[in-house]
Amino acid sequence: PAPLGPTPKLVIDLERMQQLPQEKAGPLSRYIATIQSQRGDYNGRVLSIRQEDLRSLAVIYDRSPADLTEELINWGVLDPEARRAVESF
Ligand code: C2E
Ligand code: C2E
Ligand code: C2E
Repeated sequence: PAPLGPTPKLVIDLERMQQLPQEKAGPLSRYIATIQSQRGDYNGRVLSIRQEDLRSLAVIYDRSPADLTEELINWGVLDPEARRAVESF
C-alpha cells in the first residue's frame, strides 16, 4: 500500500452541499454558514473546517463522527480521503 501522508483536511464541497435536500443538509448548511460568517470567507467553492467541528456536527446529527463522515462522503460533500481524518478521533 502507498504510504499514508499527513492527516487530510476536512474540506466541504459547498456547491454540492447547496444541491442537497434541505431536510438532510439543513443543520450542516447552517453550521457552515456560521463558520463562513466568522471568517468572512464567503467566496470559496470549498471550505476547510476544523476536526473539532466534525465532532460538533456529529452531536448535532446524533451520529458518531465516523458514521457522519460516511454520510457526508455519500452525499458527496466530503472526499473519501476524509475517512483518515476521523481515524484519530
Ligand atoms: P479564533 O479561534 O480565536 O482564531 C483567531 C484567528 O486565528 C482566526 O481568525 C484565524 O486567522 C487563525 N486561526 C485559528 N485557527 C486556525 C486554523 O486552524 N487554521 C488557520 N488557517 N487559521 C487559524 P478568523 O479566521 O478570522 O476566525 C475568527 C474566529 O471565528 C475564530 O477565532 C473562531 O472563533 C471562529 N472560527 C473561524 N473558523 C472556524 C472554524 O472552522 N471552526 C470554528 N469552531 N470556529 C471558527
Ligand atoms: P489547500 O488547503 O489544499 O487548499 C486548496 C484550495 O482550496 C485553496 O487555494 C482555496 O482555493 C480552496 N480552499 C480550501 N479551503 C478553503 C476555505 O476554507 N475557504 C476558501 N474560500 N477556499 C478554500 P488557495 O487559497 O490558493 O491556497 C493554496 C494553499 O495555500 C492551500 O492549499 C494551503 O496549503 C495554503 N493556504 C492558503 N490559505 C491558508 C491558510 O489560511 N492557512 C494555512 N495554513 N494554509 C493556507
Ligand atoms: P490549517 O490552517 O492548515 O491548520 C491545520 C491544523 O493546524 C489545524 O487543524 C490545527 O490543528 C492547527 N492550527 C493551525 N492554526 C492554528 C491556530 O491558530 N491555533 C491552533 N490552536 N491550532 C492551529 P484543524 O483545527 O482541524 O483545522 C483544519 C483546517 O480548517 C485548517 O487548516 C484551516 O484550513 C481551517 N481552519 C480551522 N480553523 C480556522 C479559522 O479559525 N480560520 C480559518 N481561516 N481557517 C480555519
